[in-house]
Amino acid sequence: MSIDPAPAATLSEAAREIVEVGRFLSVRNFVPATSGNFSRRLDARTAAVTRSGVDKGELVEADILVADIHAPPPKGSSAETPLHLQLYRDRPEAQAVLHTHSVVAALLSNLRLAEGELVLQDFELLKALGDTRTHEAAVSIPIFPNDQDIPRLADKVTAMLAKRTDLVAYLIAGHGLYTWGRSMAEARRHVVALEHLLTYELEKMKVRR
Ligand SMILES: [Zn+2]
Repeated sequence: MSIDPAPAATLSEAAREIVEVGRFLSVRNFVPATSGNFSRRLDARTAAVTRSGVDKGELVEADILVADIHAPPPKGSSAETPLHLQLYRDRPEAQAVLHTHSVVAALLSNLRLAEGELVLQDFELLKALGDTRTHEAAVSIPIFPNDQDIPRLADKVTAMLAKRTDLVAYLIAGHGLYTWGRSMAEARRHVVALEHLLTYELEKMKVRR
């Protein structure tokens, strides 16, 4: 990914984008109950993040908190906020991070955990991911074991991101998907494309049984 020259968002712009993406992902059942969390970079040092315990289809501006990406998460934010802040530190070009809990992301990541990654190739829709320009590309999505110790998990993700500059997403087994983008629109496109690709992979496994 290259650095996005676009300016970062104001808090009200970021809040509006987060509220909108919450509705969009909620109607598709990607963030059931109060699961999932979203964020939007504000500048080099801060990001807007979602409050914990709120249905992500019913977010209002007051549910959006400001986090310092180099400091502990703000009070009331999701326990998984360190995974968002770490992405803003490790990927200066990242402008938005989306975390979803769909059935297919939880199930497929569990079934394929032993492989450590999911390699997607020969899909036309791969062109919706980052700078992928051809369906012939192989896109790897690492799978991490689920861990309630979020700072420990964030350290593992940081180590992986340092080695793999091509990544656009990762999975947490039995849990869900993390993806990011150089804009909220790109991050949202990644969620939709990956949900489709993961569903395809799961259907393929059923056909091959
Ligand atoms: Zn989660």
